[in-house]
Amino acid sequence: MANFTENQLTQLKAALHKRYLELQNEIHSELAHTKDADDFDLAEYLNNIPDDIDTALVDRQINEMRELEMSMKYLNELEFGDCIDCGNEIGFERLLAYPSAQRCIQCQNQYEKAFLQGPNPTL
Ligand SMILES: [Zn+2]
Repeated sequence: MANFTENQLTQLKAALHKRYLELQNEIHSELAHTKDADDFDLAEYLNNIPDDIDTALVDRQINEMRELEMSMKYLNELEFGDCIDCGNEIGFERLLAYPSAQRCIQCQNQYEKAFLQGPNPTL
C-alpha cells in the first residue's frame, strides 16, 4: 500500500464519498424523467435495468461508481493507492483529483492509448 498519512487517508476517503454522492445525484436526475425519483432505488435499478431506457446515458457514471466502490473497499485493504497495472503508487494528488483512479498516470496514458488507438478499433 502507498504510504499515506492518517490525514491524507481521511482526505481521500472524503473525496471518494463526495464523488460517489455526486454521481448518485447525476444518475438520479438523468433518470428522473423515467422514474419516480422519490421512489428510486439505485441498487434495485442496477439489478434490473429496464429495456426501454437509453442506458448509455448513465453507463459512464455507473462504471465510475463501481470503480469508486472498489476504491472504498481497497481503502481498508492493502492495495489502496497502488496502480493495478504496475503496482507503483498512484500518488496522493492524483487520487485526490480523481478518486476513482486505478492506475498511475503513466499506465493510464498507456491504457488510453491502447484503448483509443488499438489495432482493432471497435468504431
Ligand atoms: Zn502504473
